Amino acid sequence: MLLEMRGSALYSCDPPWLGHCGGITFRVDLSVATRRSDPPAVRREAALQAIAELPHPDVTIWSDGSARGGTEQGGAGAPIQFHHLNREETVRAPAGAVCSSLRAELTAMREAFAAVAGLEDGGLASTKSVRLLTDSRSGLQLLGRGPANQTMALAAEVWRLLITLAENGTETVLQWVPGHAGLDGNETADRLAGEATAGDQDSAPIDLSSARAAVTRHVRELSRQRATAAHPHPGPTPGHDSLARWGSVTLSQLRTGTSPLTRDTLHKYGLAADDECPACGEPDSAAHLLTDCPAYEAARRRRWGVDPRLVDVLGGPATKVVTFIEDVGRTEPPLDPPAPPPP
Ligand SMILES: [Zn+2]
Repeated sequence: MLLEMRGSALYSCDPPWLGHCGGITFRVDLSVATRRSDPPAVRREAALQAIAELPHPDVTIWSDGSARGGTEQGGAGAPIQFHHLNREETVRAPAGAVCSSLRAELTAMREAFAAVAGLEDGGLASTKSVRLLTDSRSGLQLLGRGPANQTMALAAEVWRLLITLAENGTETVLQWVPGHAGLDGNETADRLAGEATAGDQDSAPIDLSSARAAVTRHVRELSRQRATAAHPHPGPTPGHDSLARWGSVTLSQLRTGTSPLTRDTLHKYGLAADDECPACGEPDSAAHLLTDCPAYEAARRRRWGVDPRLVDVLGGPATKVVTFIEDVGRTEPPLDPPAPPPP
């Protein structure tokens, strides 16, 4: 019944913005607008005013996520006050060794809502209103697209918990607040998230967008270091400049041995358990992918004949390299399969 009430039209993302449906409200702004450049005291005052205008809840959550450099060592934290039960709880959870800021923020929301939805002994039934305060505007905007428009598994999990609460008759408000503005709850959540990054990271799976961001960052650092080093291939690949951006970047990375599409690169940056080719199990590399891997023999022969040399493949035309990658299905980083769930 509740699901039928949720239409995408109710979730506008244009600020000033207020979306409400079925007992779930997203507020991505304050009633008094602030700017990032405003002094912390001004932003803090505006946040406290916005919070004061909200109805007093049974449960207050402050959630925060942290990820070093926005790409790794993710952590999630949230102090939770159960006012109606007269107790407090703190949530700390690792969000992944390879982790985007968004992922860390959504992990914090998921863990906090799970703590509320998991209340026992009539605790959930007596919870009529929940308020979550977060400094992740992008997280709220993503969730605010509605439950049917989530492509990230983690965001879908947050929505599953929001719907559980709504079906319980709980009103939930998700309110954005400015970060680093001296709000006690936000600071506590930030500290808990920082503590969680030191936890066991193996339990949190790597997602593709986090891995891609981390690889891109490593590759950028590496190419800076290598700027003056010798290029492994003597001349430019004909047609390189006319490729679309993805193809151009991919070709550059293959030429310099820094492509995230081969397992040796992922392994070097700790993003894969080994450097084994996903197709044949031999050590993976740009040369292996382009000239050696037996699994791609037919697609290779169609383009370059029998046993092409790497220098010939990279010698052009560039479009052949790109269509080969697409043809053999290697357009995404070959990450480790997710670990089986613990028994
Ligand atoms: Zn192979």
